[in-house]
Amino acid sequence: MDRAERLSWLRETNEKRLEALWQIADRIRRESVGDAVHLRGLIEISNQCRRHCAYCGLRSTNTAARRYRMTREQILTIARQGVALGFKTIVLQSGEDSRNTPETIESLIRDIKAHADVAVTLSLGEYDYETYARWRKAGADRYLLRFETSDFGLFRSLHRSVGPGEHPRLTRLRWLKELGYEAGGGVMVGLPGQTYESLVDDLEWFAALDLDMIGIGPYIPNPDTPLGQFALSERLLHRDQVPATALMAYKMLALARIMVPLSNIPATTALEALGDGWMEGLQRGANVLMPKLTPPEMAGNYHIYPGWDGAAFEAEARMDNAVKVISALGRSIDETKGCSQVRVDWETRQKLKEHGNEPASD
Ligand code: SAH
Repeated sequence: MDRAERLSWLRETNEKRLEALWQIADRIRRESVGDAVHLRGLIEISNQCRRHCAYCGLRSTNTAARRYRMTREQILTIARQGVALGFKTIVLQSGEDSRNTPETIESLIRDIKAHADVAVTLSLGEYDYETYARWRKAGADRYLLRFETSDFGLFRSLHRSVGPGEHPRLTRLRWLKELGYEAGGGVMVGLPGQTYESLVDDLEWFAALDLDMIGIGPYIPNPDTPLGQFALSERLLHRDQVPATALMAYKMLALARIMVPLSNIPATTALEALGDGWMEGLQRGANVLMPKLTPPEMAGNYHIYPGWDGAAFEAEARMDNAVKVISALGRSIDETKGCSQVRVDWETRQKLKEHGNEPASD
């Protein structure tokens, strides 16, 4: 599939014709990563954030947000519950909390790894090379850092403190790969000012970065953010504006599977917030679900965007729900840590390069 075909799939709105795209993505998913679904237990350790991302409810100046920060003991207890529920991967996510120091996160990783044979994924935002190196050395296996959009002009308009130069997240995804992490990137779909052409660029970045994990969700306006207060008419100013719909996000998800067949792709929470995201995502290229372990009283305040109504449930119920969806589709649950096959492939290529045997590229 070439760039023009990808673009034309992205512009396709006929749901009947789109069935063919879902089928291709589903077949490639089955042939590349199989039918087993990976479950990752997500702990949202803090909603404190020093950043001002224009779209995100955790942004530091959002006074409507009710802030929390889990203690180290709380995090370890929840991680243990996750292990007891059967999770083989624990994901630690948060805003860019100034208390997430290199030392505190390092010792958290060591403690989790010392108590259970699980993979640890971090999703804590932008840090320097040394900090990522330190966490990797402490045992962190994976890092999720969506680049949000590869359109650097748009990225800068949403992150006012970012100067000209390099896209800070694309740069960091390269570091993370270099440090031996399984690296996860991804985008929001339907950001005001986002064009179809830029989505095709995003897809090319997924492949160019050899992403191990790709997270894609619709942009959901949050009225407590500057971007969420944008009126619809203003948002549609751009002729080539991508709509912020679940359908649009599914098209990106399916194309991401086609671009990087071996990657681990979740059916994201934002897709769930707009409808039957887990079920449909798993049928359109996804092979991962990330049920939340965050207890209800805190999950309700991890309010990045509105619309997700799973906060009231306990971790067990969210896990049960995931199991139900997976069995309804006749799929199985993966019993391993579910490591990246892109990484295995990438390591082989790196070794060949080191030995000067780079395979001829065509
Ligand atoms: N602080 C970390 C992780 C937390 S945010 C980081 O910045 O990486 C996790 C993801 O939520 C973001 O990467 C973004 O893609 C998504 N997100 C934020 N605001 C959103 C919104 N309004 N609608 C949909 N997704 C959003």
